[in-house]
Amino acid sequence: MAVIGFIGLGNMGFPMACRLKEAGHEVRCFDVSAGSMERAHDAGLHPRASVDEAVAGAEVVITMLPSGRHVLDVLAARALPFAPGALVIDCSTIDVASCATFHESLQAKGLATLDAPVSGGVGGAAAGTLTIMAGGTEAAFARALELLRAMGKNIIHAGAAGAGQAAKICNNMLAGISMLAVSEALYLAKRLGLDARKFFEIASTSSGQCWALTSYAPEPGLVPSAPANRGYEGGFASELMLKDLRLAEQAAVASHSPALLGAAAASVYAMHCAAGRGRLDFSSIIQMLGAAQPAHP
Ligand code: NAD
Repeated sequence: MAVIGFIGLGNMGFPMACRLKEAGHEVRCFDVSAGSMERAHDAGLHPRASVDEAVAGAEVVITMLPSGRHVLDVLAARALPFAPGALVIDCSTIDVASCATFHESLQAKGLATLDAPVSGGVGGAAAGTLTIMAGGTEAAFARALELLRAMGKNIIHAGAAGAGQAAKICNNMLAGISMLAVSEALYLAKRLGLDARKFFEIASTSSGQCWALTSYAPEPGLVPSAPANRGYEGGFASELMLKDLRLAEQAAVASHSPALLGAAAASVYAMHCAAGRGRLDFSSIIQMLGAAQPAHP
């Protein structure tokens, strides 16, 4: 059993912390939101009055926060009473530069670090089936493995420090682009008089086949489990996809990598969110295409 300091008990952090508790660990936690602290208390976690109190004496500290700024504000902006040699795991999705600062500033204090962003959404966090992609040394990964296994099903050591974040933003850029591509193809197919189901049958066994089509189709009536069949509720919010596409764009600029389609997808998702659909699952991007059509083409 490990003593874990867990910071950030939001949509993802709370169920992840609960999985750690269910695996027998003592989870001392903190969140700035009073409601989250109350929910943590009710779930048998151990709320602490501050980050300092959650971190003190913990062998492992885990953060699940909105952005790089939050992670650095919480962990690196001031001295915290970390246990000597503690392992700090950041599971948030953050920008590449903040991730590098996270590793450097904490390692300079003699701490072990791992970036370990996750994929699988709130449902995956609650079920303990997340995919977790980790960046850091072999030693840090080995220390973290049992805890990561309590929170996820597919645990992958992506490489050195930062590799987990790199994998996360590249994967989500790919998912954002392919969802937009599938939406365009479905929309065009319908405009050309094709039945959506017929097109689905053909493309899902042809060269257009991809996850966004066959597992998560944006058009209702094609894939029963897809959010399109429940009004695009649940799933992965468009505003989170936009966040990740922007992180990918920043990383592409900084590393002189062409990512034209990623940038285009970010623009379309930005319009979608500005139209008030940011909370809907990212497959609702197909609605942008409908909105863009003239009334009498
Ligand atoms: P969230 O906004 O629900 O939770 C973030 C929590 O951090 C909130 O409870 C907030 O009160 C807390 N917080 C903010 N500043 C704090 C501080 N200074 N000290 C302590 N607590 C603080 O977000 P989420 O959906 O749980 O996402 C967390 C991270 O996981 C994000 O980086 C997100 O991109 C990533 N992620 C989310 C999903 C998803 O489906 N929601 C999936 C994969 C990855």
